[in-house]
Amino acid sequence: MTPPAAPNSAAARDIAYALHPYTDHRAHEKNGPMIIISGKGVRVTDDAGREYLETVAGLWCASLGFSNERLVEAATAQMRKLPFYHGFTSRSHEPLIELSEMLIARAPVPMSKVFFANSGSEANDTAIKMIWYYNNAIGRPNKKKIISRIKGYHGVTLAAASLTGLPNNHKLFDLPIAGVLHTSCPHFYRFGAEGETEDAFATRMADELEAMILAEGPDTVAGFFAEPVMGAGGVIIPPRGYFAKIQAVLRKYDVLMVADEVICGFGRTGEYWGTQTFGVQPDIITCAKALSASFLPISAVMVNDRVFQGLADGSASVGTWGHGFTYSGHPVPAAVAIETLKIYDEMDIVGHVKRVGAHMQASLRAAFADHPLVGEVRGIGMIAAVELSADKAARSPFDPARKMGARLVKLGEAHGLILRALPGDAIAFSPPLIMEIDEVDEMVERFGHALDELAVQARRESIT
Ligand code: PMP
Repeated sequence: MTPPAAPNSAAARDIAYALHPYTDHRAHEKNGPMIIISGKGVRVTDDAGREYLETVAGLWCASLGFSNERLVEAATAQMRKLPFYHGFTSRSHEPLIELSEMLIARAPVPMSKVFFANSGSEANDTAIKMIWYYNNAIGRPNKKKIISRIKGYHGVTLAAASLTGLPNNHKLFDLPIAGVLHTSCPHFYRFGAEGETEDAFATRMADELEAMILAEGPDTVAGFFAEPVMGAGGVIIPPRGYFAKIQAVLRKYDVLMVADEVICGFGRTGEYWGTQTFGVQPDIITCAKALSASFLPISAVMVNDRVFQGLADGSASVGTWGHGFTYSGHPVPAAVAIETLKIYDEMDIVGHVKRVGAHMQASLRAAFADHPLVGEVRGIGMIAAVELSADKAARSPFDPARKMGARLVKLGEAHGLILRALPGDAIAFSPPLIMEIDEVDEMVERFGHALDELAVQARRESIT
């Protein structure tokens, strides 16, 4: 039990005034916050002076860790020169231009233009609006439905939360909105049928998508959203051949492919973009998080020329593209993003992730694949998950009431780790991309201690 927060302490003030994202508010009233006050490298420190290794880079985002003077300098220099300007009505500024140019140069497939927003959710909402606008502009007003996937995560604004395929993002919120549909989740370990090969499973996923498009009417389906690796839904790596089969269906029915690179973009999977790891050819790419190493909020939507031409014709016909945020392309986060991309080039982010990621994947598998509480260890590059299972052979999950993932997170804290449990008791690993091999070893060793303690608890409670 957490002791009650002392009166007037930061914890008590937090409970009194702060409404937290992704939190059980009732439990928070009782347990209070974990207050982080500083960071250095891959570590953060709480208000009691305890240091933790951050195994998820905050929210899969602090790619360069929690201290970087070059990014501080880039932000302050830009604030001194021009703290704000915008891109509405053909206004522009240097950071917006340079960052657009840098992103187009780094795009995995030929892209035409970049639009900026502040968050992954806003980028995905923007992508949906672009698809609707595009289809109206080219004379296909009925082609509007959007398909995403069960367990996909695309954010929390009204349209992005609708794309997200997780129950807690819909329940009590009156979501999803009409016209957003969810197709099957390509998690072979969890959803592969008895005796089904990985290839047959991938084919079935594509067949189910095609059946959905045909049932809805191909003339009504406009776009498909997918993360190359599903993140918050459980770090789900698609089976071999999955995206090729999916894209064949999308092409057949002229459905635009949107790659949500909010987690995967900028090296996470061991290529610059997750789409390159899986051979996806998107029409639209959304990205955020590692774009600015999360020192400041910024996201981007890249569109290919086909989409841009539709948007341009549409805006000419009505007089303006009526979409944009006050802070679209804000010069300060844009300047930080420019510096971030330069750092990625200099450190050879892809080479680094290939090297450290290979070690991370091998170490996690070696340490935990045979652990009695573990069902599956999966991952690619520097993103991974260790999924707990009540019965290895049957692949059955633990009863959610046991809260095994949450308990492991708590045990991890005592070993100096900040862990993240995903639905289904999968523990995610998505550390800062600057993590080095010795830090990976430390992370794996500490996690092993926490997991062993959970195994002792489980035996004591006769859960296993
Ligand atoms: N897409 C993906 C793949 C994400 O992981 C997230 C956030 N975790 C989002 C979109 C939403 O981004 P934001 O929280 O910045 O709105």
